[in-house]
Amino acid sequence: MTGLTALNSVQAAPPAIAIIIDDLGYRYAEGQRAATLPGRVACAVIPNTPHGTPMAEMAHARGKEVLLHLPMQSLDPERPVGNEGIALNTTRVGVTEALRNGIRSIPHVAGVNNHMGSLITRHPGHMTWLMKDLQQNNLFFVDSVTTASSVALSMAREQGVRATQRDIFIDSEEATESQIIQRLETLYALARRQGQALGIAHPYPATMTVLERELPRLAQHGLRLVTVQELIGLRENAAKENADLASAKLDSSSFAAP
Ligand SMILES: [Zn+2]
Repeated sequence: MTGLTALNSVQAAPPAIAIIIDDLGYRYAEGQRAATLPGRVACAVIPNTPHGTPMAEMAHARGKEVLLHLPMQSLDPERPVGNEGIALNTTRVGVTEALRNGIRSIPHVAGVNNHMGSLITRHPGHMTWLMKDLQQNNLFFVDSVTTASSVALSMAREQGVRATQRDIFIDSEEATESQIIQRLETLYALARRQGQALGIAHPYPATMTVLERELPRLAQHGLRLVTVQELIGLRENAAKENADLASAKLDSSSFAAP
């Protein structure tokens, strides 16, 4: 295969989606259902939950990508972050301990995404501490984007952490199967437009029923399922191609100028 043919076949790869199932660890049966979904979805497990450790083991054994779903302080005082997460009063050392305890509790972690966090992901100091620690542990970060004012992704980039953000939430607790299918179709459309798209779902029974049925049909929609790590790689490549294109344009315009 010539270089050009190889390039063409890379470009011909179908648009990709990645799906994270959040909030695992509390209820065994729903976690088991998530871990047995057809395809390499990512399972995001909350540390120090009743079933977190075996859930991560099960997900890993079934070829799923495991994420540490790290609790972060919400604007909602009814949803406390607990001792295991990152809050406004968490110190520099406390952030390191939260991550260390999380990794100890959840085996096979490839990356981290935030559970809640609408308050703390707006704080550059805490996010920088976390990203320094993720960098040291060679873990990627996914911003769940629980607030439009999140600085987590830019702090990750500053610290050289591989990172991305979710595009859409696929479900809500009250969503019906047909509403979830509509959200999935929105994810598909985004993937076709962007080349790749990242959705977050939860282990609600309606969501599991839809994903069990729809994931095996992705190829019929002209799509493929990738891990979050692979999706980050695709986005890095796309960003690099855009940058190369922009600098090529800049070069040719400077040649054109007298
Ligand atoms: Zn969550």
